[in-house]
Amino acid sequence: MKVRLGEYYTGWAQNDALKEAGKEAVKERAMEILEENRAQLASAQELLWASNIYSVLIILQGMDTAGKDGTIKHVMSGVNPQGCKVHSFRVPTDEELDHTFLWRYWRALPNRGEIGIFNRSYYEDVLVVKVHPERLVNLPPGKRGKKFWNARYEDINAFERHLIRNGTVILKFYLHISEDEQKKRLLDRLEDAEKLWKFSLSDLEERKFWGTYQEAYEDALTMTSTEEAPWYIIPADHKWVARTLIADIITTRIQSLDLAYPTVSGEAIAQLKDARRQLEEE
Ligand code: AMP
Ligand code: MG
Repeated sequence: MKVRLGEYYTGWAQNDALKEAGKEAVKERAMEILEENRAQLASAQELLWASNIYSVLIILQGMDTAGKDGTIKHVMSGVNPQGCKVHSFRVPTDEELDHTFLWRYWRALPNRGEIGIFNRSYYEDVLVVKVHPERLVNLPPGKRGKKFWNARYEDINAFERHLIRNGTVILKFYLHISEDEQKKRLLDRLEDAEKLWKFSLSDLEERKFWGTYQEAYEDALTMTSTEEAPWYIIPADHKWVARTLIADIITTRIQSLDLAYPTVSGEAIAQLKDARRQLEEE
């Protein structure tokens, strides 16, 4: 089924029950849930690390100002930095452009036991690059039409299937903001001396392609949402909504792996007892 982003909510009151409760009450409860999840995520990650079977790949996509950086900061704040790596992807370098489009992401994948966060990802190669096809360079000649992009979605699906079959859990979040909210956030950046550094003239340029981006997102979400790695479309006009939902989905998913700390065998226990005896006798 084709994803139509216009049909997805960006605000906080997705249903009547929430509306009735009122914004302040919903926000308060959301903050509590976020706090609970942060603590649970920290222990889930310890277990992930100790059991060393799965890795978790979290993909964050969204228009400029959608809140990708803030989400990482707030959701992952309780997690042991040793087991968690963040990669932010910018315009590809010449070296990266001299490889297939998946190369740089492949190299950045989390190790077993780790949580890896991709702040932007290989999806940019069917988003910003689809909006600006002149960025496709060093490729064999051919039309850059529907067939070309379908091949990229297919490559992405195959890549993800390979990762999943080998123990990577993939969680993909699209932070869905409205065009109005982006305007507000861009203006905020211009008005606040401490946020000014975040403003980039290119954000304003890209905003002019809002509609084309939404279409590219709709195609990407439609074509790459699979049973094993579905897209979550996250209402993101309110940062607390996005953060709470994302924290909850990540925590629940890792907990569902039903991991246990490695057990120690009889022989190893004897060795540990011996080690203890040696230390005590020193
Ligand atoms: P920021 O997230 O604000 O640091 O901006 C990163 C910039 O890099 C954005 O303008 C993205 O559109 C751009 N970018 C990220 N990945 C790619 C890619 N694969 N191809 C072209 N541009 C990219
Ligand atoms: Mg930016």
